[in-house]
Amino acid sequence: MVHIEVDESRCDGFGFCEQAAPEVFGLDDDGVVTVLLDDIPAELTDKAEAAARACPVAALRTGR
Ligand code: SF4
Repeated sequence: MVHIEVDESRCDGFGFCEQAAPEVFGLDDDGVVTVLLDDIPAELTDKAEAAARACPVAALRTGR
């Protein structure tokens, strides 16, 4: 399983992560990313990692 680390201070609310993996990422009322799942199940791992790479400000990191 993969865990996502978020640096909220970097997030500019572009929403690319949410578009790439809406099961995993959302935006709160302030337009800052929130991770919807504490641990990412295997079937969503590739999607979550691709979404993290899509972040233009490198606010998302994935770890195993
Ligand atoms: S892609 Fe990056 S900057 Fe955009 S909402 Fe997601 S974490 Fe924030």
